[in-house]
Amino acid sequence: QSPPPADIEINQGVEPIPIKDLCQQVGVKDDEYELYGNYKAKLKLEILDRLKDQKDGYYVVVTGINPTPLGEGKSTMVVGLTQAMGAHLRKNVFATLRQPSQGPTFGIKGGAHGGGYSQVVPMEEFNLHLTGDIHAITAANNLLVAAIEARMLHESSQTPAQVFDRLCPKNPKDGKRTFSKIMFRRLKKLGINKTDPEDLTEEERARFAILDIDPTTLTCNRVIDTNDRFLRKITVGQATTEQGHSRETQFDITVASEIMAILALTTGLEDMRERIGRMVVAFSKNQVPVTADDLGVAGALTVLMKDAIKPNVMQTLEGTPVIVHAGPFANIAHGNSSIIGDKIALKLVGSEGFVVTEAGFGADIGAEKFFNIKCRYSNLVPNAAVIVATVRALKMHGGGPEVQAGIPLPKAYIEEHLPLVEAGCANLQQHIRNCKKFGVNVIVAVNKFTTDTDAEIELVKKKAIEAGADSAILCEHWAKGGAGAADLAAAVAAACEKNRKEGSNFKFLYPLDIPVKEKIESVCKNIYGADGVQFSELAEKKIAMYTNNGFHNLPVCMPRHICLSATILN
Ligand code: ADP
Repeated sequence: QSPPPADIEINQGVEPIPIKDLCQQVGVKDDEYELYGNYKAKLKLEILDRLKDQKDGYYVVVTGINPTPLGEGKSTMVVGLTQAMGAHLRKNVFATLRQPSQGPTFGIKGGAHGGGYSQVVPMEEFNLHLTGDIHAITAANNLLVAAIEARMLHESSQTPAQVFDRLCPKNPKDGKRTFSKIMFRRLKKLGINKTDPEDLTEEERARFAILDIDPTTLTCNRVIDTNDRFLRKITVGQATTEQGHSRETQFDITVASEIMAILALTTGLEDMRERIGRMVVAFSKNQVPVTADDLGVAGALTVLMKDAIKPNVMQTLEGTPVIVHAGPFANIAHGNSSIIGDKIALKLVGSEGFVVTEAGFGADIGAEKFFNIKCRYSNLVPNAAVIVATVRALKMHGGGPEVQAGIPLPKAYIEEHLPLVEAGCANLQQHIRNCKKFGVNVIVAVNKFTTDTDAEIELVKKKAIEAGADSAILCEHWAKGGAGAADLAAAVAAACEKNRKEGSNFKFLYPLDIPVKEKIESVCKNIYGADGVQFSELAEKKIAMYTNNGFHNLPVCMPRHICLSATILN
């Protein structure tokens, strides 16, 4: 229908393919998936072992101009493009998307299943609990915080010998103590080379037991995946048993937690266990980093995450497979779906197939982190980047009037206004130049809204090519489904094939072994157009602390407020 009915009407109007049939169609064996109802399944990581010699398919990232309240449609584009590749170009294809947080879903933004005739089905399964991965992260994170609080309480109210007794109690049957596997990690870190707890001196027992956490340095808070503003500042520890230990703290949203970032970046169960164990949860009063392994809880957290690590598979309205896995926010975390999901999808599509993933926010935030962080850890090399732009959002970037929810859009957005479009194209052009710095082919996808005029669309395409885009294509997948993105699919396929034939020029913006400040400067200057970076006293202190503790060889993950201030500095 034109215009399309409401998303929910379209979404509920189709009968999805039973997911077990879809799994079979895409080459997943019967013992390689676990059903969660009829339309969702989890994929087992064993697929990666079975297909380890299979050459990967083409890898495409969809990103966008800077988000505005008018919406750019990145998720919708990922769905439309994969529908076009699957149903219309007859290619093997997978979309890989983030699992949305219930914060934005029930907040202003709504779901992230796409829209119009380009959606993931069933939308309520996609947008709400899915298979419980975010709930598992909530449980793991809150167990970690509970362990930190309990440890601080015990250390302050008991002698080191009593804390040691609590951590390594005598077996009531034979009166003997034994160290668990996880305790040996801590012993090794402390340089205590003893296997029998009885051999530890009093001083060694105290060093083993006492973490001496400075409560003002805790790096993780309790989390919940709900937009509950009243939890932004809370006081904990008010029961009589915790008297003297009440402190102000806060809930964060689950998708902003480090465990979510780990889920997105991990490459397997062992790797996840190691990453969880290495998490720095606080610093001691002597400024020594305290990790989840020091607390002895990393194994328990990993068990809580054992199912969450398996990617979820769903489908689009046109029966194209979609992996939905992990959803770190892009404003403070790295904003990309899981590496494991992409790796499995790239094997399943075969060497001539395509995997289309989405990098959240604008290309400055999501794509920069996709290239510099996700691709660095996955060793995957993208063959092409698609930048989504809409005429309406470009008009806003060009100085168009403010919009308000519930109030009709100002005329400038629903009638032709070429000067605003032209001014706003500066935003698109910068994103094109930014992506080009990573050595990838850039295709601009103009997501058509019904109010856009031909002249406006042509102007955007012209400006995109001027800035170095390899092509610029009009897309109507919202109104027409996959058929509306067939031209884009053909352009993306051609760009990927050319890239493979000619060899990739993909490169990171900075190497890992340069000082932290230089990495920050590289992102600010190259991506945000900053002339330079001024570091506050606090930032200087933190950078020195990270460097002294050996964390300086990691990539930098730029949060949104720093990006904004970097832009303002310019
Ligand atoms: P993003 O991933 O960039 O946040 P989404 O793909 O979730 O954006 O789209 C945001 C909203 O805009 C959705 O409600 C979607 O249905 C709507 N939308 C996307 N493209 C179009 C279009 N061409 N016409 C009308 N609405 C659209």
